[in-house]
Amino acid sequence: MSYDVVIAGGGAAGCSAAYNLGINGKKVLLIEKNNYLGGLMTGGLVTPFMKSSDNQINTSFGSRFKTEMKKYNAVITYEDGNDGWFNPEYAKIVLDKLMNEASVEVRFDTVITSANIDNNYIRDITLSSKMLSERIKSRYYIDATGNCDFAKKINCEFINKKDEFQSLNLRFIMSNVDIEKFAKWILEFDNDRDVTTVCCVNDEIHMSTAYTWDTNKKWALDPLFKQAVDDGILKNEDRNYFQVFTIPKMPGSIAFNCPRIYTKNVIDPLNNLEYTASLKSGRESILRLSNFCVKYLKGFENAYISSIADMLGIRVSRRLKGKYIFTIDNIKSGRTFEHPVLISNYPIDVHSVKNNQSVLEKVNKEYQMPVEAMISADYDNLFTAGRCVSADFYAQAAIRIIPSCMSMAEGLAKYILELS
Ligand SMILES: Cc1cc2nc3c(=O)[nH]c(=O)nc-3n(C[C@H](O)[C@H](O)[C@H](O)COP(=O)(O)OP(=O)(O)OC[C@H]3O[C@@H](n4cnc5c(N)ncnc54)[C@H](O)[C@@H]3O)c2cc1C
Repeated sequence: MSYDVVIAGGGAAGCSAAYNLGINGKKVLLIEKNNYLGGLMTGGLVTPFMKSSDNQINTSFGSRFKTEMKKYNAVITYEDGNDGWFNPEYAKIVLDKLMNEASVEVRFDTVITSANIDNNYIRDITLSSKMLSERIKSRYYIDATGNCDFAKKINCEFINKKDEFQSLNLRFIMSNVDIEKFAKWILEFDNDRDVTTVCCVNDEIHMSTAYTWDTNKKWALDPLFKQAVDDGILKNEDRNYFQVFTIPKMPGSIAFNCPRIYTKNVIDPLNNLEYTASLKSGRESILRLSNFCVKYLKGFENAYISSIADMLGIRVSRRLKGKYIFTIDNIKSGRTFEHPVLISNYPIDVHSVKNNQSVLEKVNKEYQMPVEAMISADYDNLFTAGRCVSADFYAQAAIRIIPSCMSMAEGLAKYILELS
């Protein structure tokens, strides 16, 4: 079989690249190791989109996704104007539909096991799933696996450094929450309204609130968390991060952007032992946090854990060395480039499990990322997209959000269309 472009990884970035190439007539194969598309947005239960710049470029895939999701009321615009509050289960269905629309061939439960290399050129690859092993030829390859799994197989150079990791989260959902009761109570409880917001969309109440053990804010939920530690319901480390969002078309359900997996040393998500231990420890923490919610938060009296993410929440791991390494200085200076794939103003957002070590640094100007940060330095026909692009640790911490992954991948698709 022969293709114009083979993409490994069907997350936000892989889907956007595939759609934009397919809709423009390229023969595209999208290889996904899970049984559904979306990566962290679906399997990791990562919702909503973080809000990006109004001047964002390459937004056609994101817009098409939202338009389709709207047909099922599975996406809403929140009170701050963020139109990316979405339902992760409907997203799986919509992403399948969009790949069909663009005539993208998708293979689930499949990975690339080997490649034939000729100097700096990838000639062909072998795909494997439980059902088949097959040799595939393509003109171009994109590694959108998040962890550069394909690039690792063909011995590319990477730029990630030892100990440069963000905290891992394992997200979950609780259902049977009385959202109206919770919203009314938290609005009174968080009386300076620093982190709590509530709004009504399509006759549904939507809301968000948060808490951390960092001392940069007067967190309203602080006394309750401390009390729960004293009562033996929570461990002290469970206080390190708590953030919740309602989910469109999932009434009575709340998505948790926690727990952060707590360990004394930094966890390497590429080490299988540490990865496994993180999942187990995350699930233990989810049980404690859910008990905390039921006992201490109004509206959660009859709530239960309805879903635990399939994918561990890895914010950053292996990053491919590209023709250009996008840097924190590029972000801070607002440097412009000849071939930008992304324009954003999303802050530098580093999650740490240590007290007061997390960073959420606003940027003064919009910044751009160049397509060269998505072109492999090692192979002439290899590209990357999404959270594993060629960006230093702090730059990656700004460009890893879902809308940016979609935009940069769309920009890369345009670049490949121009090449061929
Ligand atoms: C805990 C957490 C919270 C976050 N919160 C937000 C938020 O609120 N809003 C926001 O906008 N962003 C958020 N982000 C960031 C955002 O979710 C991710 O950075 C973004 O979704 C990454 O998209 P991606 O396509 O690069 O990678 P991924 O979503 O990781 O997709 C990679 C895909 O590749 C597949 N894959 C992996 N290896 C292989 C292989 N060998 N062969 C085939 N397929 C493979 C995976 O199964 C997956 O489907 C969060 C991230 C985390 C971890």
